[in-house]
Amino acid sequence: MKKFGVKSFVGGLAIGALFVSGTSYALPSLTKLVVNGEEISTNSLATVVDGKVLVPARSLAEALGAKVVWDADTNSVIVTTGAASASTTPSTGKPAAPALTASHWSYEGESGPDQWYALEDAYAACKTGVEQSPINIVTSNVTKDQSAAALTIHYHPTAVTVMNNGHTIQANEASGTNSITVDGIAYKLAQFHFHTPSENQIDGQHFPMEGHLVHKSADGKLAVLGFLIKEGQENKPLAELWSKLPKEETKTDVALDKTIDLTALLPTDKSTYQFEGSLTTPPCSEGVKWFVFQQPIEMSAEQIKAFRAIFPDDHRPVQELNGRKVVAN
Ligand SMILES: [Zn+2]
Repeated sequence: MKKFGVKSFVGGLAIGALFVSGTSYALPSLTKLVVNGEEISTNSLATVVDGKVLVPARSLAEALGAKVVWDADTNSVIVTTGAASASTTPSTGKPAAPALTASHWSYEGESGPDQWYALEDAYAACKTGVEQSPINIVTSNVTKDQSAAALTIHYHPTAVTVMNNGHTIQANEASGTNSITVDGIAYKLAQFHFHTPSENQIDGQHFPMEGHLVHKSADGKLAVLGFLIKEGQENKPLAELWSKLPKEETKTDVALDKTIDLTALLPTDKSTYQFEGSLTTPPCSEGVKWFVFQQPIEMSAEQIKAFRAIFPDDHRPVQELNGRKVVAN
């Protein structure tokens, strides 16, 4: 038996937490995967889903003729090839990287939102889930009560790197210093990204855009701060990022010259709508704490147009509430 430790997590957070869902492994902010010294493009191998790189373990294992497990202690993906699978593994032990394919999901057609569940076993929750995101927030049904979580935001001007992952523009937090606290539990900011039109609706209405700040706790739980974006003044905190929007899918992140002031990005009124939900992209994993600011922020028509020139529509339609309550703080 050979063990290949896949340890080269470059350019991202290496949080010792992993979402295992069916046959896929979602790695936190993995941007580079190296097997036996050989770099595998995560663009061909994996899909970036809300800040995590989803590696379809089945296709990876099949391509390598190997067993793929996550080792939380060493923060590694361990690829193990056995005698029985030696014939499918090149004698050099190098992976058959060109044969690897990720399942390609999209926002339209045969790989669109209503078909995500069929693309990978690991995407089943996209259909069978009962607490899916996004939702239509009906303000007259929102209750303001004691069950609302205490949310504290600890943001600072921060360095980010930017990627076009084929589904959205995503800014990866490079400093590791931004976090939120929800009922006393800390969640570190991993990345933020954008959708157009907004994914969550307010009283059945979309906003032109929505941003998602994705945070992760030490034990791998997710909390998302959503900010709705309406057309108005130029958004200054995002100006630098918008000047560097990668038009094509990126292989390596683009660094920004200036830091982003995330505190200035958020609305002044920090009241939120809160609900239990999921990732809005495959694998649609549930158990995500959602906070959507009630007050939208603004972006100029030109800024919205610039994003839509790259992604004309990257939103998942609203999902059933199934009895979930939306509360306000
Ligand atoms: Zn999102």
